[in-house]
Amino acid sequence: MSAFDVINPATEQVVASVEGLEVDSTDEAVARAKQASESWRRVAPGDRSRLLRRFADRVDSDIENLARLEVANSGHTIGNARWEAGNVRDVIAYYSAAPERLIGQQIPVADGLDVTFHEPLGVVGTIVPWNFPMPIASWSLAPALAAGNAVVLKPAELTPLTAMRLAELALEAGIPEHVFQVLPGKGSIVGQRLVDHPDVAKIVFTGSTEVGRQIMAGCAAQVKAVTLELGGKSANVIFADADIEAAAATAPYAVFDNAGQDCCARSRILVEQSAYEAFMAEFEVAVKKVVVADPADETSEMGPLISASHREVVASFLPEGSPIAFRGSAPEGPGFWFAPTVVTPESSVHRLMQEEIFGPIAAVMSFATEEEAVRLANDSHFGLSGSIWTRDLGRAIRVSRAIESGNLSVNSHSSVRYWTPFGGFKLSGLGRELGPDAPFAFTETKNVFFSTKE
Ligand code: NAP
Ligand code: MG
Repeated sequence: MSAFDVINPATEQVVASVEGLEVDSTDEAVARAKQASESWRRVAPGDRSRLLRRFADRVDSDIENLARLEVANSGHTIGNARWEAGNVRDVIAYYSAAPERLIGQQIPVADGLDVTFHEPLGVVGTIVPWNFPMPIASWSLAPALAAGNAVVLKPAELTPLTAMRLAELALEAGIPEHVFQVLPGKGSIVGQRLVDHPDVAKIVFTGSTEVGRQIMAGCAAQVKAVTLELGGKSANVIFADADIEAAAATAPYAVFDNAGQDCCARSRILVEQSAYEAFMAEFEVAVKKVVVADPADETSEMGPLISASHREVVASFLPEGSPIAFRGSAPEGPGFWFAPTVVTPESSVHRLMQEEIFGPIAAVMSFATEEEAVRLANDSHFGLSGSIWTRDLGRAIRVSRAIESGNLSVNSHSSVRYWTPFGGFKLSGLGRELGPDAPFAFTETKNVFFSTKE
């Protein structure tokens, strides 16, 4: 074990010291999970449902505490953090109905009965990033538990506290010991061991494309199932016929929410030429209105970046001579603050248009035709999210079908809905989370033929 400090990114003060696991202690946790999974899969579906509903209830009564913990650990605004804790409650409640709905098929055959079963995998390993520690943890743990698996969860080193609290709440709710364990520690040690461990049947990884590639390669060695939720560089495409006022008023929140540390951030804004000037004038007003302040303050709309080193990475995207159009404000003094910044690169090949910055920098470019808008939107290795603003219904349908991305919204910047599928095209990932089918992704389909011959 080796202890590491957890830092409040808004104050740079130490919030807690956490014991990180090593390879041996990770192996011990996986062994406990494997044993727990044997009895958890045999808990009657109705009882598994009831326990998950109780877990959701425990989360509900702990929302304020979880939210405060996230403000202190991750610098999320208190408003966002309450939403995130509520999201965990809702995700667990939604999938609490799944154990009784893991319905197989009965397929017509001669001389017998053919049925399919959805068998739990055993132990599921889930590896979570620091940007949305609570929701992302719940998106895999809830459907995996519902399908009868044990879960070992590796939180990001920077943000382990809310996940650790969720494990306590699960125990309080009566979920048997070791069915859901949180394993803090380094990605290169604990995370890597979960990928390599033969008793971990599936990995759900959310994080960078770079680490995701290594994880997929690691899983390939054991033909292990893997779901990848990776990076993004999503487009917000605004046509001249749209409600430009609404598009400009909402665009800042679609990219600067969570200080831009959002895989779905609409960080490339593409505006039709004839509306460009009007949009930019209103967008500037809206960006300057974003309240960047102490995240514990009820009125704060944007907090700090997660760490000093991440702030350096974000700042490296703006060397001398960068095409900065305008900036919002940020507090002085301690904390990893970075003012919202809008840039206007001349070409789509510019790194400001291509690379995921994961900070509050939005790049704006104009386009002339619908065809060019689609081409620019698709000029990316990523394909996670995006928005389309237009009042033309036919265009909304054409463009939403043409953009290579897993999650689009028209005339809004809707966030992830847990009851709809979520995931990325291209380098943004592999597989889908959430939605009604998610529990099946934590099962193996088994086909059994029963002969009726005498
Ligand atoms: P990251 O560096 O890839 O880390 C993600 C997680 O993987 C952390 O828990 C990390 O542990 C662990 N890890 C690191 N190296 C590992 C290895 N070799 N084997 C196993 N696990 C390892 O990502 P991040 O910087 O935390 O998060 C930002 C990225 O996540 C962005 O690219 C963002 O777009 C992406 N993201 C995607 C989604 C989505 O749903 N598509 C959602 C949120 C974020 P440590 O904490 O110890 O490094
Ligand atoms: Mg990292």
